[in-house]
Amino acid sequence: MIARSAPYVVLSRVPQEERTQHAAAFEAIGAALRAASIAYAEVDSIYDRYEEDPDVAFLREVAGDLVFIGWHYPRALKWILARQGLEVNGKARALHCLDAREGEPAELAARVEKILAGTSSAVVAAPPKQDSPADGLTPKQRGVLAEQALPNPENAELSARWYPVVDYDACTNCMECLDFCLFGVYGVDPAGTLRVTNQDECRSDCPACARVCPVGAIVFPKYVTNATIAGGEDDGERGSLKLDLSKIFGKPKARHQAALERDRELLKAGRKPASADKVDKLSDEFDKLDL
Ligand code: SF4
Ligand code: SF4
Repeated sequence: MIARSAPYVVLSRVPQEERTQHAAAFEAIGAALRAASIAYAEVDSIYDRYEEDPDVAFLREVAGDLVFIGWHYPRALKWILARQGLEVNGKARALHCLDAREGEPAELAARVEKILAGTSSAVVAAPPKQDSPADGLTPKQRGVLAEQALPNPENAELSARWYPVVDYDACTNCMECLDFCLFGVYGVDPAGTLRVTNQDECRSDCPACARVCPVGAIVFPKYVTNATIAGGEDDGERGSLKLDLSKIFGKPKARHQAALERDRELLKAGRKPASADKVDKLSDEFDKLDL
C-alpha cells in the first residue's frame, strides 16, 4: 500500500468584487490556520484566474491530496478546479473543498485539522447518476410550466469573470446547453464530450443555460440570485445530493425564462433576439399559406 502524504492546504483569496465583504474573514481564517499550526499556501481567486496563470500552474503541480478553502460552494469549487486542469476525481488525489463563508474561522481551522488527521472529509463525492430530472419531464415540458417574472440581475458589473462550470458527475452529455447557447460558449472535444470551450464569450450575469440543463449540471459560482445555480445544496450533503430542481426549473416556465435571459444578452450584444428569428420564421410560413 502506498503511504499518502498529508493533504496540502490552500486558501484562496477573495474575489475582487467581494473583498469589502469578506476581507476580514479572509484575514481571520489565515490567523486561525496559523494558530492551529496548519501550513497553507495562498492563491488568487481561482474562478477569476486563467489556466496559464502562475497560481493555477502551481496548483496543478501540487501532488497528492488537497484541502481547498474558497469563496464558493464546495461543489462549485470542485468543478472550477477541474476546469483549471486539476485532477479532482482520480486515484491520485482526494480534493477536499471548504466554503470559507461557512462557519467561524476557528471552526474551519478545526475542520481542516480533522481532514489532515484523516478523521474527516470534505470530498465532494459524485451523486448517483441521474438520467432524467426528478420531475420526470423533458426540458420542453418543463418549459411550458407556470410563468415566472425574470429576476433582476444582481451580478452585473460585479464579476471580473463570468462563465459556466460543468459538474461532470451530473452531466449526461445531452448537448441541450450547446444547442441553447447562441454565444458559442460550449463545444465538444474530440471524444464528443461537452466542454466549455469559449468561456469568456459567456454573457455577464446570464445564467440561462443553467435553467435549461435537465440535470442541473451547470454551475455559475458567482450567481447570487439562486444558490442552487451557484452550486449550493439543499442539505449540505453532496454524497446524497438532492438538488432542489424546482428551484432551477420546476415552478417557473424555466425554458421561457432562460430564453428571455438569452434574448436580453443578445440585445445587449447588439444582436437580434432568437425569439425574433422565430417570429420571422412563423411570419414567413404564414405568408406562404394560401389563405
Ligand atoms: S449563460 Fe448564456 S451566454 Fe453563458 S453559456 Fe449559458 S446561454 Fe451561453
Ligand atoms: S445540458 Fe447539462 S447535462 Fe446536457 S450536456 Fe449540458 S451540462 Fe451536460
